[in-house]
Amino acid sequence: MNDFRSKLVRTIAPYTAGEQLNDKRYVKLNTNENPYAPSPKAIEALHSFPADSLKLYPPLEMRALREAIAAAEGVAPQNVFCGNGSDEILALCFPAFFDADGQGAAFADITYSFYSVFCSFFHIPYTLLPLEEDFSLDLAKLTALPAQGILVANPNAPTGIGIPLDEIRPFVAQNKGRIVILDEAYMPFFNQSAVPLTEEYDNLLVVKTFSKGYSLAGMRCGYAIGNRALIEGLERCRDCFNSYPVDRVCQVVCAAAIADGAYYAEKNAAVVAERERLHAALSRRGFTVLPSKSNFVFAKHAALAGRTVYEELRARGVLVRHFAKPRIADFCRITVGSCAQNDALLAALDDILRT
Ligand code: PMP
Repeated sequence: MNDFRSKLVRTIAPYTAGEQLNDKRYVKLNTNENPYAPSPKAIEALHSFPADSLKLYPPLEMRALREAIAAAEGVAPQNVFCGNGSDEILALCFPAFFDADGQGAAFADITYSFYSVFCSFFHIPYTLLPLEEDFSLDLAKLTALPAQGILVANPNAPTGIGIPLDEIRPFVAQNKGRIVILDEAYMPFFNQSAVPLTEEYDNLLVVKTFSKGYSLAGMRCGYAIGNRALIEGLERCRDCFNSYPVDRVCQVVCAAAIADGAYYAEKNAAVVAERERLHAALSRRGFTVLPSKSNFVFAKHAALAGRTVYEELRARGVLVRHFAKPRIADFCRITVGSCAQNDALLAALDDILRT
Protein backbone atom coordinates (compact mmCIF):
# COMPACT_ATOMS: atom_id res chain seq x y z
CA MET A 1 0.00 0.00 0.00
CA ASN A 2 1.27 3.50 -0.81
CA ASP A 3 1.99 5.82 2.09
CA PHE A 4 0.60 9.21 1.13
CA ARG A 5 1.55 10.90 4.39
CA SER A 6 4.08 13.71 4.45
CA LYS A 7 7.55 13.15 5.91
CA LEU A 8 6.54 15.38 8.81
CA VAL A 9 3.47 13.35 9.66
CA ARG A 10 5.31 10.08 9.28
CA THR A 11 7.96 11.09 11.77
CA ILE A 12 6.42 13.51 14.28
CA ALA A 13 5.59 12.30 17.79
CA PRO A 14 2.17 13.89 18.46
CA TYR A 15 1.05 15.01 21.93
CA THR A 16 -0.59 12.25 23.95
CA ALA A 17 -3.69 13.53 25.69
CA GLY A 18 -4.85 11.96 28.96
CA GLU A 19 -7.30 9.08 28.67
CA GLN A 20 -10.89 10.23 28.36
CA LEU A 21 -12.64 7.28 29.98
CA ASN A 22 -15.76 9.08 31.11
CA ASP A 23 -17.12 5.82 32.34
CA LYS A 24 -18.86 6.34 35.71
CA ARG A 25 -16.82 3.47 37.12
CA TYR A 26 -13.70 5.60 37.07
CA VAL A 27 -12.76 8.36 39.47
CA LYS A 28 -11.23 10.60 36.84
CA LEU A 29 -8.26 12.54 38.21
CA ASN A 30 -6.07 12.47 35.12
CA THR A 31 -6.74 15.58 32.98
CA ASN A 32 -7.05 18.43 35.48
CA GLU A 33 -10.71 19.13 34.95
CA ASN A 34 -12.55 21.12 37.60
CA PRO A 35 -14.73 18.91 39.83
CA TYR A 36 -17.45 21.56 40.05
CA ALA A 37 -20.18 22.26 37.49
CA PRO A 38 -19.96 25.41 35.36
CA SER A 39 -21.65 28.53 36.75
CA PRO A 40 -25.48 28.33 36.82
CA LYS A 41 -25.41 31.46 34.64
CA ALA A 42 -23.38 29.63 31.99
CA ILE A 43 -25.78 26.70 32.11
CA GLU A 44 -28.73 29.07 31.80
CA ALA A 45 -27.07 30.70 28.77
CA LEU A 46 -26.76 27.26 27.21
CA HIS A 47 -30.40 26.38 27.86
CA SER A 48 -31.69 29.63 26.45
CA PHE A 49 -29.43 29.54 23.41
CA PRO A 50 -31.39 30.29 20.21
CA ALA A 51 -30.66 27.06 18.33
CA ASP A 52 -32.03 28.39 15.04
CA SER A 53 -29.12 30.84 14.92
CA LEU A 54 -26.81 27.88 14.30
CA LYS A 55 -27.61 28.08 10.62
CA LEU A 56 -25.36 31.15 10.53
CA TYR A 57 -21.60 31.25 10.98
CA PRO A 58 -20.49 32.63 14.34
CA PRO A 59 -19.79 36.38 14.69
CA LEU A 60 -16.25 36.94 13.41
CA GLU A 61 -15.53 39.70 15.90
CA MET A 62 -16.74 37.65 18.92
CA ARG A 63 -17.53 41.05 20.39
CA ALA A 64 -19.70 39.96 23.33
CA LEU A 65 -17.24 37.28 24.42
CA ARG A 66 -14.21 39.54 24.07
CA GLU A 67 -15.99 42.31 25.98
CA ALA A 68 -16.88 39.90 28.79
CA ILE A 69 -13.28 38.66 28.98
CA ALA A 70 -11.93 42.22 28.83
CA ALA A 71 -14.24 43.31 31.67
CA ALA A 72 -13.18 40.38 33.86
CA GLU A 73 -9.48 40.87 33.13
CA GLY A 74 -9.44 44.67 33.29
CA VAL A 75 -8.17 45.18 29.72
CA ALA A 76 -9.65 46.48 26.45
CA PRO A 77 -11.51 44.09 24.09
CA GLN A 78 -9.03 44.86 21.31
CA ASN A 79 -6.33 43.24 23.44
CA VAL A 80 -8.19 39.93 23.64
CA PHE A 81 -7.90 37.01 21.21
CA CYS A 82 -10.14 33.93 21.51
CA GLY A 83 -9.52 30.42 20.24
CA ASN A 84 -10.73 26.86 20.31
CA GLY A 85 -9.05 26.01 23.61
CA SER A 86 -5.78 27.52 24.72
CA ASP A 87 -4.05 24.66 22.90
CA GLU A 88 -5.12 26.20 19.61
CA ILE A 89 -3.86 29.63 20.66
CA LEU A 90 -0.53 28.18 21.79
CA ALA A 91 -0.27 26.40 18.44
CA LEU A 92 -0.93 29.66 16.54
CA CYS A 93 1.76 31.39 18.61
CA PHE A 94 4.49 29.40 16.88
CA PRO A 95 3.89 30.50 13.28
CA ALA A 96 2.83 33.94 14.57
CA PHE A 97 5.94 34.73 16.60
CA PHE A 98 8.74 32.36 15.54
CA ASP A 99 10.68 31.89 12.32
CA ALA A 100 11.80 28.48 11.14
CA ASP A 101 15.25 29.94 10.42
CA GLY A 102 15.37 32.05 13.60
CA GLN A 103 16.84 31.41 17.05
CA GLY A 104 13.81 29.38 18.01
CA ALA A 105 11.88 28.99 21.23
CA ALA A 106 13.19 28.37 24.74
CA PHE A 107 11.30 26.61 27.51
CA ALA A 108 11.83 24.20 30.40
CA ASP A 109 12.68 20.53 29.86
CA ILE A 110 9.76 19.58 32.08
CA THR A 111 6.73 21.62 31.09
CA TYR A 112 3.63 21.29 28.96
CA SER A 113 4.75 18.79 26.35
CA PHE A 114 2.65 20.36 23.59
CA TYR A 115 5.26 23.15 23.22
CA SER A 116 7.87 20.85 21.69
CA VAL A 117 5.23 19.14 19.54
CA PHE A 118 4.19 22.52 18.12
CA CYS A 119 7.84 23.39 17.45
CA SER A 120 8.32 20.15 15.53
CA PHE A 121 5.07 20.63 13.64
CA PHE A 122 5.97 24.18 12.57
CA HIS A 123 9.68 23.40 12.00
CA ILE A 124 10.78 25.81 14.72
CA PRO A 125 14.00 25.01 16.59
CA TYR A 126 13.86 24.96 20.37
CA THR A 127 16.19 24.92 23.37
CA LEU A 128 15.26 23.20 26.61
CA LEU A 129 16.39 24.57 29.96
CA PRO A 130 16.62 21.80 32.58
CA LEU A 131 14.59 22.58 35.68
CA GLU A 132 16.59 22.70 38.90
CA GLU A 133 16.88 19.66 41.17
CA ASP A 134 13.77 20.80 43.10
CA PHE A 135 11.88 21.30 39.78
CA SER A 136 11.93 25.10 40.09
CA LEU A 137 12.64 27.19 37.00
CA ASP A 138 15.66 29.51 37.08
CA LEU A 139 14.40 32.55 35.17
CA ALA A 140 17.91 34.05 34.96
CA LYS A 141 19.15 30.95 33.12
CA LEU A 142 16.16 31.10 30.79
CA THR A 143 16.89 34.76 30.11
CA ALA A 144 20.50 33.91 29.26
CA LEU A 145 19.50 31.46 26.49
CA PRO A 146 19.58 32.65 22.90
CA ALA A 147 16.02 32.41 21.55
CA GLN A 148 13.53 34.39 19.49
CA GLY A 149 10.97 33.93 22.25
CA ILE A 150 10.32 32.20 25.55
CA LEU A 151 7.44 30.11 26.87
CA VAL A 152 6.70 29.65 30.55
CA ALA A 153 3.75 27.77 31.99
CA ASN A 154 2.85 29.46 35.27
CA PRO A 155 1.93 27.50 37.30
CA ASN A 156 3.94 24.85 35.51
CA ALA A 157 2.58 21.49 34.39
CA PRO A 158 3.01 18.73 35.37
CA THR A 159 4.95 19.98 38.42
CA GLY A 160 2.30 22.44 39.64
CA ILE A 161 4.98 24.88 40.82
CA GLY A 162 4.08 28.57 40.56
CA ILE A 163 6.32 31.61 40.08
CA PRO A 164 5.21 34.73 42.02
CA LEU A 165 4.28 37.81 40.03
CA ASP A 166 7.11 39.83 41.59
CA GLU A 167 9.59 37.48 39.87
CA ILE A 168 7.67 37.48 36.58
CA ARG A 169 7.78 41.27 36.24
CA PRO A 170 11.61 41.65 36.12
CA PHE A 171 11.81 38.56 33.92
CA VAL A 172 9.48 40.13 31.33
CA ALA A 173 11.40 43.43 31.61
CA GLN A 174 14.77 41.72 31.11
CA ASN A 175 13.48 39.98 27.99
CA LYS A 176 11.99 43.08 26.43
CA GLY A 177 13.72 42.43 23.11
CA ARG A 178 11.76 39.22 22.52
CA ILE A 179 8.35 37.75 23.13
CA VAL A 180 7.50 36.10 26.44
CA ILE A 181 4.46 33.82 26.29
CA LEU A 182 3.01 32.98 29.70
CA ASP A 183 0.69 30.00 29.72
CA GLU A 184 -1.60 30.68 32.68
CA ALA A 185 -3.92 27.69 32.23
CA TYR A 186 -3.75 27.00 35.99
CA MET A 187 -3.65 30.59 37.23
CA PRO A 188 -7.19 30.46 38.75
CA PHE A 189 -5.64 28.33 41.52
CA PHE A 190 -2.72 30.72 42.14
CA ASN A 191 -4.24 34.19 41.54
CA GLN A 192 -1.05 35.99 40.52
CA SER A 193 -1.85 36.65 36.89
CA ALA A 194 0.54 38.70 34.78
CA VAL A 195 -2.32 40.14 32.69
CA PRO A 196 -1.90 43.63 34.26
CA LEU A 197 1.69 43.66 32.95
CA THR A 198 0.52 43.36 29.33
CA GLU A 199 -0.31 47.07 29.29
CA GLU A 200 3.21 47.92 30.33
CA TYR A 201 5.23 45.40 28.33
CA ASP A 202 4.69 44.98 24.60
CA ASN A 203 6.63 41.69 24.57
CA LEU A 204 4.19 39.89 26.90
CA LEU A 205 1.39 37.58 25.79
CA VAL A 206 -0.67 35.84 28.46
CA VAL A 207 -2.66 32.76 27.43
CA LYS A 208 -5.58 31.55 29.53
CA THR A 209 -8.36 28.99 29.29
CA PHE A 210 -11.97 28.32 30.25
CA SER A 211 -11.11 24.63 30.71
CA LYS A 212 -9.77 24.62 34.26
CA GLY A 213 -10.84 27.65 36.31
CA TYR A 214 -14.23 27.96 34.58
CA SER A 215 -15.18 24.25 34.55
CA LEU A 216 -15.68 24.34 30.78
CA ALA A 217 -13.12 21.86 29.41
CA GLY A 218 -15.85 20.37 27.23
CA MET A 219 -16.59 23.72 25.60
CA ARG A 220 -13.11 24.27 24.17
CA CYS A 221 -12.33 27.94 24.59
CA GLY A 222 -9.20 29.84 25.49
CA TYR A 223 -7.99 33.42 25.19
CA ALA A 224 -4.84 35.44 24.94
CA ILE A 225 -4.18 38.96 26.18
CA GLY A 226 -1.45 41.21 24.83
CA ASN A 227 -0.78 44.43 22.98
CA ARG A 228 -2.58 45.03 19.70
CA ALA A 229 0.39 44.01 17.50
CA LEU A 230 0.61 40.58 19.16
CA ILE A 231 -3.15 40.05 18.97
CA GLU A 232 -3.09 41.04 15.32
CA GLY A 233 -0.32 38.51 14.71
CA LEU A 234 -2.53 35.78 16.14
CA GLU A 235 -5.51 36.99 14.09
CA ARG A 236 -3.47 36.79 10.90
CA CYS A 237 -2.45 33.22 11.70
CA ARG A 238 -5.99 32.24 12.63
CA ASP A 239 -7.22 33.63 9.32
CA CYS A 240 -4.74 31.44 7.47
CA PHE A 241 -6.24 28.39 9.10
CA ASN A 242 -9.81 28.68 10.42
CA SER A 243 -11.63 31.99 10.66
CA TYR A 244 -14.35 30.63 12.97
CA PRO A 245 -12.63 28.68 15.72
CA VAL A 246 -15.13 29.59 18.46
CA ASP A 247 -18.67 28.47 17.73
CA ARG A 248 -21.84 30.39 18.61
CA VAL A 249 -22.79 28.28 21.61
CA CYS A 250 -19.29 28.54 23.03
CA GLN A 251 -19.21 32.33 22.65
CA VAL A 252 -22.45 32.76 24.60
CA VAL A 253 -21.70 30.20 27.34
CA CYS A 254 -18.16 31.43 27.99
CA ALA A 255 -19.26 35.07 28.10
CA ALA A 256 -21.84 34.18 30.77
CA ALA A 257 -19.29 32.11 32.69
CA ILE A 258 -16.59 34.75 32.91
CA ALA A 259 -19.14 37.34 34.06
CA ASP A 260 -19.83 35.17 37.11
CA GLY A 261 -16.51 35.67 38.85
CA ALA A 262 -17.99 35.32 42.35
CA TYR A 263 -19.18 31.76 41.67
CA TYR A 264 -15.79 30.66 40.38
CA ALA A 265 -13.85 32.42 43.12
CA GLU A 266 -15.75 30.31 45.66
CA LYS A 267 -15.39 27.02 43.77
CA ASN A 268 -11.72 27.51 42.97
CA ALA A 269 -11.01 28.38 46.60
CA ALA A 270 -12.62 25.04 47.50
CA VAL A 271 -10.32 23.29 44.98
CA VAL A 272 -7.31 25.01 46.57
CA ALA A 273 -8.43 23.90 50.06
CA GLU A 274 -8.79 20.31 48.80
CA ARG A 275 -5.38 20.55 47.15
CA GLU A 276 -3.80 21.35 50.51
CA ARG A 277 -5.70 18.50 52.19
CA LEU A 278 -4.56 16.10 49.46
CA HIS A 279 -0.97 17.29 49.75
CA ALA A 280 -0.94 16.58 53.50
CA ALA A 281 -2.74 13.24 53.15
CA LEU A 282 -0.31 12.05 50.45
CA SER A 283 2.70 13.15 52.52
CA ARG A 284 1.41 11.08 55.43
CA ARG A 285 1.29 8.08 53.09
CA GLY A 286 4.96 8.29 52.14
CA PHE A 287 4.71 10.53 49.08
CA THR A 288 6.98 13.44 48.26
CA VAL A 289 4.58 16.10 46.96
CA LEU A 290 5.80 19.16 45.07
CA PRO A 291 4.34 22.48 46.33
CA SER A 292 1.45 22.94 43.93
CA LYS A 293 -0.21 26.21 42.97
CA SER A 294 -2.52 24.52 40.46
CA ASN A 295 -5.47 22.11 40.57
CA PHE A 296 -3.29 19.01 40.62
CA VAL A 297 -0.45 17.61 42.68
CA PHE A 298 2.69 15.91 41.42
CA ALA A 299 3.73 13.18 43.81
CA LYS A 300 6.30 10.41 44.12
CA HIS A 301 6.13 7.52 46.57
CA ALA A 302 9.17 6.49 48.59
CA ALA A 303 8.77 2.79 47.79
CA LEU A 304 6.52 2.47 44.72
CA ALA A 305 7.41 3.34 41.13
CA GLY A 306 5.21 5.95 39.45
CA ARG A 307 4.06 3.41 36.87
CA THR A 308 3.03 1.02 39.65
CA VAL A 309 1.03 3.69 41.47
CA TYR A 310 -0.71 4.59 38.18
CA GLU A 311 -1.49 0.96 37.30
CA GLU A 312 -2.61 -0.08 40.76
CA LEU A 313 -4.87 2.96 41.05
CA ARG A 314 -6.30 2.25 37.62
CA ALA A 315 -7.03 -1.33 38.63
CA ARG A 316 -9.01 0.13 41.54
CA GLY A 317 -10.97 2.52 39.30
CA VAL A 318 -8.94 5.70 39.87
CA LEU A 319 -7.32 7.38 36.87
CA VAL A 320 -4.26 9.57 37.36
CA ARG A 321 -1.56 10.61 34.88
CA HIS A 322 1.86 9.04 34.59
CA PHE A 323 4.60 10.31 32.26
CA ALA A 324 7.24 7.75 31.29
CA LYS A 325 9.85 10.48 30.85
CA PRO A 326 13.31 11.14 32.26
CA ARG A 327 13.36 12.76 35.73
CA ILE A 328 9.62 12.40 36.31
CA ALA A 329 8.92 8.70 35.74
CA ASP A 330 8.61 8.14 39.50
CA PHE A 331 5.85 10.72 39.81
CA CYS A 332 2.13 10.69 39.17
CA ARG A 333 0.11 13.81 38.42
CA ILE A 334 -3.12 13.71 40.37
CA THR A 335 -5.94 16.16 39.65
CA VAL A 336 -7.58 17.65 42.72
CA GLY A 337 -11.11 16.29 42.59
CA SER A 338 -14.15 16.80 44.77
CA CYS A 339 -13.85 15.85 48.43
CA ALA A 340 -15.49 12.48 47.64
CA GLN A 341 -13.20 11.81 44.67
CA ASN A 342 -10.11 12.64 46.73
CA ASP A 343 -11.33 10.35 49.50
CA ALA A 344 -11.77 7.56 46.93
CA LEU A 345 -8.21 8.15 45.72
CA LEU A 346 -6.84 8.02 49.28
CA ALA A 347 -8.82 4.86 50.07
CA ALA A 348 -7.44 3.19 46.92
CA LEU A 349 -3.91 4.22 47.91
CA ASP A 350 -4.40 2.81 51.40
CA ASP A 351 -5.47 -0.45 49.81
CA ILE A 352 -2.39 -0.48 47.55
CA LEU A 353 -0.05 0.33 50.42
CA ARG A 354 -1.54 -2.46 52.60
CA THR A 355 -0.82 -5.17 50.02
N1 PMP B 1 -1.59 24.74 28.99
C1 PMP B 1 -1.34 23.83 29.92
C2 PMP B 1 -0.15 23.98 30.80
C3 PMP B 1 -2.19 22.72 30.05
O1 PMP B 1 -1.95 21.77 30.96
C4 PMP B 1 -3.33 22.62 29.21
C5 PMP B 1 -4.29 21.48 29.36
N2 PMP B 1 -3.87 20.26 28.93
C6 PMP B 1 -3.51 23.59 28.24
C7 PMP B 1 -2.63 24.66 28.17
C8 PMP B 1 -4.60 23.52 27.23
O2 PMP B 1 -5.86 23.66 27.74
P1 PMP B 1 -7.10 23.94 26.80
O3 PMP B 1 -6.71 23.63 25.37
O4 PMP B 1 -8.16 23.01 27.31
O5 PMP B 1 -7.44 25.36 26.98
